Amino acid sequence: MRFVALARPRRWLANSLALTMAATVVAGCGANDPRQTDTPEARERVQSHAVFRVTTGRPLVALTFDDGPDPRWTPAVLGLLGGRFGRATFFLVGRSALAHPDLVRAELAGGDEIGNHTLTHAHLEFLTPAGVQAEVAGGSRAIVAAGAPRPLLFRPPRGFTTKVVARAAARAREQTVFWGLTVERFIGRRGAVADGVSRLLARMRPGTVVLAHDGGMDRSRTLQALPLLLDGLAARGYRLVTLSELLASGPGASL
Ligand SMILES: [Zn+2]
Repeated sequence: MRFVALARPRRWLANSLALTMAATVVAGCGANDPRQTDTPEARERVQSHAVFRVTTGRPLVALTFDDGPDPRWTPAVLGLLGGRFGRATFFLVGRSALAHPDLVRAELAGGDEIGNHTLTHAHLEFLTPAGVQAEVAGGSRAIVAAGAPRPLLFRPPRGFTTKVVARAAARAREQTVFWGLTVERFIGRRGAVADGVSRLLARMRPGTVVLAHDGGMDRSRTLQALPLLLDGLAARGYRLVTLSELLASGPGASL
């Protein structure tokens, strides 16, 4: 199967982890690069084997939630997903998972997938290589200790990545996954949530990875947007799947 890093199709799974490791080793990056990679183009330059979206002819999208679990928001998100038979992928902050293993269990019980979002949601781009390694490995360990399977997916906090971050994820055998559309960017902090969701839905394509948040700060507007988004996706014929399901849906899928 193939996935797309921006517009360029690449083979998935057969050699992606090996390629990621090889690319970062060749780069020979001994120190972390402090430049922030907050655009898709910059992320592609630093981490070309990461997933940005998936090439699929099927009407599938993956909804991903970062920064949880958080008892203020996660239960409501799970209630909305369960009520509409939608499945999502949650990139968990390890220490939050340890603090709320009940929410981790609830995510797993709903068929949702869990990925690693580091131990403390650190600014990885400013850490030493050892610090990056500790955040990535520590996040995985905490998520497992909270009762989840070993994460196979990784997303750096704020989407900021460097060669050191890419190497740490590869060493942990976790596939880095970014995203194409961010719910909170469309709905903003004021104005009609419904208008933002309409603009978001207009940009949706098969294989899109959508980012939302269920922790970290006030997510009440995200919760307002979610039912509109889920209903809008259903009305357009889209089905919500986990990232692993989306990755497996591409041409020649072997997962
Ligand atoms: Zn985050």
